[in-house]
Amino acid sequence: MAVYAAAATVLAGVENRQGSLKGLVYASKFQNVKQLYALVCETQRYSAVLDAVIASAGLLRAEKKLRPHLAKVLVYELLLGKGFRWGGGRWKPLLGRHQARLKAELARLKVHRGVSRNEDLLEVGSRPGSASQVPRFVRVNTLKTSPDDAVDYFKRQGFSYQGRASSLEDLRALKGKYFALDPLLPELLVFPAQTDLHEHPLYRAGHLILQDKASCLPAMLLAPPPGSHVIDACAAPGNKTSHLAAVLKNQGKIFAFDLDAKRLASMATLLARAGVSCCELAEEDFLAVSPSDTRYRRVQYILLDPSCSGSGMLGRRLEEPGAEPPSKERLCALAAFQLRALRHALAFPALQRLVYSTCSLCPEENEDVVQEALQQSSGAFRLAPVLPSWPHRGRGTFPGAEHCLRASPETTLTSGFFIAVIERTEVPSSASLAEQPAPEPVSSPVPKRKRRRKAAAGEGTQQVAGGELQDAH
Ligand code: SAM
Repeated sequence: MAVYAAAATVLAGVENRQGSLKGLVYASKFQNVKQLYALVCETQRYSAVLDAVIASAGLLRAEKKLRPHLAKVLVYELLLGKGFRWGGGRWKPLLGRHQARLKAELARLKVHRGVSRNEDLLEVGSRPGSASQVPRFVRVNTLKTSPDDAVDYFKRQGFSYQGRASSLEDLRALKGKYFALDPLLPELLVFPAQTDLHEHPLYRAGHLILQDKASCLPAMLLAPPPGSHVIDACAAPGNKTSHLAAVLKNQGKIFAFDLDAKRLASMATLLARAGVSCCELAEEDFLAVSPSDTRYRRVQYILLDPSCSGSGMLGRRLEEPGAEPPSKERLCALAAFQLRALRHALAFPALQRLVYSTCSLCPEENEDVVQEALQQSSGAFRLAPVLPSWPHRGRGTFPGAEHCLRASPETTLTSGFFIAVIERTEVPSSASLAEQPAPEPVSSPVPKRKRRRKAAAGEGTQQVAGGELQDAH
């Protein structure tokens, strides 16, 4: 096997936790172990930089047959290594076609990070603190105010408004008391990373929600029209629920479920503060919620944001720079739950559109779960192609996976995140809906709770520290 293909296999193995880098290099049976080891180590060292360059150059979108790990190795060799010193075979001319664009993207990255050498780029990009470059995103709660009014308020406080940003680089350039509107989300304000708004009167009054940009995408992409019925399956502490309520303009209904009583209490406080009035909270196992219950017969939209390893969360990465990745066993258990929850959600008979999201970077919890659920739906559902300009796509582990979205500090200036938008392939007629047999609910892995507490948003009265709710996934 050629060294580049062998290196790609080892990289994929390391990422999928099939073994240590050294172990996998030896297990590859590649003749020149030293050569292979050096190439994999170097590619891995520059991984974040390579991801950013590959994403902004659109390489994987243009070359569908090129697998992501191989692309990373080849781009390393082309831009940072010694330029295909070990051959390159048929990949060399392919990469050659993209060489100018890739080089330009690398140069652009250096200019914007204010560095001149590749090594300096590595220092900035690879330390856990690269997360500290991620701006402070602030969602304007349109149930209580408007982006224009929020902008005016900040201007009166001495902040300098830069208008709507046109690129991520504009956001990266924000310093001091500058702020801007996000290029994609119309109600998202963006401040420099260190801006602390926990004590800000607009935050305390529920006019602003401190929410990472990636975490704003699920409600935006689900886009239920006002008047719709929506399920938020794993809802607490409720940032996405409050966003959904804003999208619905408080018209319609959100059935929000969560197992955790404490998180639900925090959520009730958050929703009350945000002026949400269309949400019904239930302390309930979503897997035990019957899709054939007539209460949910009008549910056409589901947001599923299940428990996950959290491997993409900035806070965790910053606080625990040496943190171990989740173990194989933990990933397996989480993925099994996530798949059950997704299959269960797809069993709601009127469902038209579902957003599945995690703050995990692990394909086991993301592309693999989506692929399996779609396969098991026998063609009833498919991935919706969304946000074609979003630079970081799902890993190409199955056809169509590029419709999924990924996010990371390096590629999208956000926390690490994954999103899949799933839609029904055919609109069921009301007649066929009536004829449909009750779908078989997926059995719950946890004992069904005896206590079922329903709370309208606003019932929770205990005080929750602002920081506990902000930045929630
Ligand atoms: N969507 C929330 C937000 O934006 O604020 C974050 C959700 S968090 C990632 C996952 C939540 O799923 C946790 O609050 C957890 O208690 C809840 N959960 C886990 N298993 C559940 C189940 N079987 N049914 C309902 N909720 C569950």
